[in-house]
Amino acid sequence: MKLPSGYRYPQGGFKGRHVLEMEKCTGCSICQYICHNITGAIGMVPVEGTFPRNRKGIFPQVDYGLCVFCGFCVDACSFNALYMSQEYELSTYNRLQLIYEPRLLATPPSASGHSHFIVTKNDAYHQEKSGTSSRT
Ligand code: SF4
Ligand code: SF4
Repeated sequence: MKLPSGYRYPQGGFKGRHVLEMEKCTGCSICQYICHNITGAIGMVPVEGTFPRNRKGIFPQVDYGLCVFCGFCVDACSFNALYMSQEYELSTYNRLQLIYEPRLLATPPSASGHSHFIVTKNDAYHQEKSGTSSRT
């Protein structure tokens, strides 16, 4: 399975977890405003540091326990600071680990866009082209 490249309007693509390009983000909060009436998955939170384009130093944080991956926040960002990656295996046993704070959102996606679904006699799992795998 080859997943299409990350989603950013109008290019289309796969809607996995978001990637935040912090150097482009102005902290305008439009993504939060758009999400507010969908799921309320985005909160704006402060990040320590100096950001020339973002003097308030606030950035989006996404709660994947709420997000429905509609992509409207990406569409609404006028500064191309958000896109959605091919990274889709986000499940965890800890609810708090579904909350991605800005610096975590800013980390490059681990998924390559190439994924194989491996089925054995006792198991089934996805395997990235790079060789990393995740059990289902
Ligand atoms: S990600 Fe885009 S819409 Fe959201 S605060 Fe940053 S610049 Fe604004
Ligand atoms: S993809 Fe949709 S639900 Fe998820 S954070 Fe963006 S606007 Fe909210």
